[in-house]
Amino acid sequence: MNGDSFCNGEKLLLEKVIKSNAEWKKILTPKQYHVAREKGTERAFSGEYHDHKGQGIYQCAACGNELFSSKTKFDSGTGWPSFWASVSEDKVREEKDNSFFMKRTEVLCNRCDAHLGHLFEDGPAPTHLRYCINSVILKFVEKKEQK
Ligand code: FE
Repeated sequence: MNGDSFCNGEKLLLEKVIKSNAEWKKILTPKQYHVAREKGTERAFSGEYHDHKGQGIYQCAACGNELFSSKTKFDSGTGWPSFWASVSEDKVREEKDNSFFMKRTEVLCNRCDAHLGHLFEDGPAPTHLRYCINSVILKFVEKKEQK
């Protein structure tokens, strides 16, 4: 299966995008590839969106999946774009990550399995969650009218 199935209406949201590493290398920039496929982390305050304030949706830069809304974005002071919720539960997937001797929860795009960042439990109300996401794997799309 590949990205050709994008244009099938509502069902597309549930269809997985599966590509080989060689294919992803052609699509993504080296920085995006490092984060998305090698679970890298961009340097704090180095990305495009940590201080970004527009109204709209942050999509997965790899597959276009709508991940986070500006309505749940907050300034965490960490240097990475931070959200207290995803757009909906089926958009992102969470997995245990015990690398680097830390117990963390990894956040992945549920459509293309791109690594996005990590989830912490020190965010603001109402969820008290903090999705700490790499700017480089997000693509902001302005939507003034969104609720
Ligand atoms: Fe994706």
